[in-house]
Amino acid sequence: MRVLVLGGTAEARALAVALDAAGIVFESSLAGRVSRPRLPVGPVRIGGFGGADGLARYVADARVTHIVDATHPFAAGMSANAVRAGCATGVPVLRLSRPGWGGRPDAASWRWVPTLPAMRATAERLGRRPFISSGRQTLGAFASWTDRAALVRVVERLEVAPPDRWTVIEDRGPYTLDGELELLRAHDVDVVLTKDSGGSYTSAKLDAAGRLGIPVVVLSRPPTLPGAAEVTSVGACVERLLAAGAEH
Ligand code: NAP
Repeated sequence: MRVLVLGGTAEARALAVALDAAGIVFESSLAGRVSRPRLPVGPVRIGGFGGADGLARYVADARVTHIVDATHPFAAGMSANAVRAGCATGVPVLRLSRPGWGGRPDAASWRWVPTLPAMRATAERLGRRPFISSGRQTLGAFASWTDRAALVRVVERLEVAPPDRWTVIEDRGPYTLDGELELLRAHDVDVVLTKDSGGSYTSAKLDAAGRLGIPVVVLSRPPTLPGAAEVTSVGACVERLLAAGAEH
């Protein structure tokens, strides 16, 4: 058994620890977008494969027996490539995806939107001082907000200068409730924008917004693709791999 873990998430790093402990041979893969990535334990390769075809070639050359797609729930391109490469090579794909935030008790009070334009339009109706925490790749959708004092939080330095009135913070989770309360108050935020990333690393902003009565706009996840079995925890993922290994 030789597992290729498509990573870039806390779950992928936790999976690497668990695979290592279980004695399963694996390699993690990162996109290489972040200059100082948090590295998983074990062997790591960095950089794109060159589309689904490139990934299929890699899988065949490296004699990968199982692909685990543990990328972020919004990394839809990579997930689609994993399914296509799995089909092309006959290698099974297991999707490890953390549950979204839709099951939280406060989720019904948020405005759920399917697209970035809908997110912008909804947020425009709700406030003038947005906290944009939906990620660097979403910022283009808000480029016309030159008139408002947006607070933006990103992991990596922006390549393009933001509008003058924006405040950009470079930081990465995990965040605390106290820290998020302080941030929202300090910038007088009146609407919070986020993707439905799920997990606990970045969820404190939702608790803080709830405490302060600030509306939240949530971008729904892209649909899950057929062609990959899905698990929602690292433990379940390792169990599935061990069971598959026992069948060989
Ligand atoms: P994406 O749009 O789905 O993927 C774009 C391209 O990046 C892929 O076609 C692939 O290039 C390369 N790529 C993505 N993940 C890779 C991986 N794990 N290993 C090797 N190549 C990878 O992905 P994205 O949304 O830009 O996310 C990039 C990375 O950041 C992912 O690893 C993801 O887990 C992580 N991340 C994303 C988000 C988010 O909100 N999207 C948040 C946190 C972390 P080729 O076609 O050349 O193979």
